[in-house]
Amino acid sequence: MKNHSMDDLVSLCKRRGFIFQSNEIYGGLQGLYDYGPLGVELKNNLKKSWWKSMIYERDDIEGLDSSILTNRLVLKYSGHEDTFTDPLVDCKSCGERFRADQVPDYCKKEDLTEPRNFNLMFKTNVGPIEDDNSFAYLRPETAQNIFTNFKNVLDSSPHKLPFGIAQMGKAFRNEITPRNFIFRVREFEQMELEFFVNPGDDEDWHKKWTDIRLQWWEDQGIKGDSIELYHVPPDELAHYSKATVDIMYRYPHGLEELEGIANRTDFDLGSHTKGQRDLNINAQVSENTQSNAKLAVQDLETKEWIVPYVIEPSAGVDRGFLAILNEAYQLESLENGNSRIVLALKPHLAPIKVAVMPLKKNELSIVEKSMNVKNQLQKTIDGRVLLENTGNIGKNYRKNDEIGTPACITVDFQTLEDSTITIRDRDSMKQERVHLEEVRAYLNENYRI
Ligand code: ATP
Repeated sequence: MKNHSMDDLVSLCKRRGFIFQSNEIYGGLQGLYDYGPLGVELKNNLKKSWWKSMIYERDDIEGLDSSILTNRLVLKYSGHEDTFTDPLVDCKSCGERFRADQVPDYCKKEDLTEPRNFNLMFKTNVGPIEDDNSFAYLRPETAQNIFTNFKNVLDSSPHKLPFGIAQMGKAFRNEITPRNFIFRVREFEQMELEFFVNPGDDEDWHKKWTDIRLQWWEDQGIKGDSIELYHVPPDELAHYSKATVDIMYRYPHGLEELEGIANRTDFDLGSHTKGQRDLNINAQVSENTQSNAKLAVQDLETKEWIVPYVIEPSAGVDRGFLAILNEAYQLESLENGNSRIVLALKPHLAPIKVAVMPLKKNELSIVEKSMNVKNQLQKTIDGRVLLENTGNIGKNYRKNDEIGTPACITVDFQTLEDSTITIRDRDSMKQERVHLEEVRAYLNENYRI
């Protein structure tokens, strides 16, 4: 059991500049958060790690960065206009609105209205004329424009099935009750892969991707006992899904979905393709009279056209951020009777890789040497190296423990004489004296940075 609460995480995030409430000086806007100087680093590192595992470390996935504003036809044929809804109820006693499955205990059943469907998509106007036909949606998921680009990517890169297209970026949902900090928000980021396979190979690939994704979360520092798999029962499956496994994480507020891995069959390409009648589509799709692209691949031997099945691992960046923060946060009792907060982040995720600090802030020669050390290190380190120039070493160590900096380097008088510095390890708090010429190799060896 962890001995901290969501409030402890929220407080750390604000105090150290990870996450702020959005629009706070005007009273905020519900369900929106801003990532501050350290938050943006951690978030980018998480996304970079996902991208590396998807695109760079495999040969069967291509990347994409598509537009957020989306033609309404995309979301008509995807089914979102009709089905991307949550059941909304009003409480006649307190006057508030809730998602029907998230009504708080203080509302009595007899005070609730019958649930009605509320569409979660945000609309906006495109172009100077505002009428019923000039609107577009802000995408509610990154997936749809992967499907609409299926042919573009396939025609411009040499892939045969199985292969995937991956994308990360913002998604927008007008959640009825945003809550639990960055867990459920109205503007968030997703990391989604659509992996196209031959029908018949889908069940194997679904299992494979579940294992790959579990391992990846573990590599980000999430321990196995914080995670549970939820095999979604048939009566809870989304209409397009043949099978879905949710990766559930033990958040401070409870066990909830971090990532969903769905077998979406040929529903997506089947819905967006032209010439549906000539293709052998298994999923129940509505008739598409407006698409101009054939979203299918030809079997070179049989010459038959195949609409690929899709396996979709879909993860939330913000939910990943919160899980990683929760997992890394530790309140430690020290031998001297004091305690410290330490964020035991994996070095590749840490917002600051190394902090360089002069022992004395008014000693020009030491400060200049520190700047020089910082600048030299920054040239080869992928991530931020921070110059801490407050001169209070104890405070600097405490701060860097709290923000998860794996190593702190102190420049002192001895550095000026023999070019050695001390490196202090975040987790063990041990210090070692290392020659400047060996620092880079030392960091690489001990922290892979
Ligand atoms: P939930 O049931 O919790 O509303 P969902 O099943 O609707 O989530 P998906 O449509 O499967 O979510 O979206 C894929 C991923 O996107 C989720 O696993 C989650 O990590 C993330 N996500 C979805 N909605 C939100 C949100 N409102 N805020 C933050 N992340 C979200």
